[in-house]
Amino acid sequence: MFSCARCGENATDGTTCCLCKHQFDFACAGITEIGFRKLGDRKNTWRCSECKSVSSTVAPSHQQVSQQLSEMRSTLDSIMRQLAPLATSVEDVKTIKQDISDLKVSVEYAQKTADESLAKFGSLEFTLQFTHLNVVVSQFA
Ligand SMILES: [Zn+2]
Ligand SMILES: [Zn+2]
Repeated sequence: MFSCARCGENATDGTTCCLCKHQFDFACAGITEIGFRKLGDRKNTWRCSECKSVSSTVAPSHQQVSQQLSEMRSTLDSIMRQLAPLATSVEDVKTIKQDISDLKVSVEYAQKTADESLAKFGSLEFTLQFTHLNVVVSQFA
């Protein structure tokens, strides 16, 4: 016995979404009991209509975000390598360290949301901070 995640009615049997783990009665799941039985092993990968629509629209942009983030990360890595020698000789190294940690935060933030528009915002922020970092570094060059 469980209560359906959509209509709240008690049901004795139904489906469980593999993503959100919500349980639905067959009527709300949009599948007949017979149809569900026929799914066999695919029962374990059944998704509710909400999760289906989310994953189908997010999937391509999610890939773009990952791509963008790995580019950001490799740029960040090269900045870190370039700054490593400076770290011991520059007095104002705190400023640089702060910039790098800010940069990390924005990369992590963009990754968490995995949203295309936010990723664009993240990369804009990244560009701004990268420019600022260049200015800081050039002061000691
Ligand atoms: Zn229901
Ligand atoms: Zn779901």
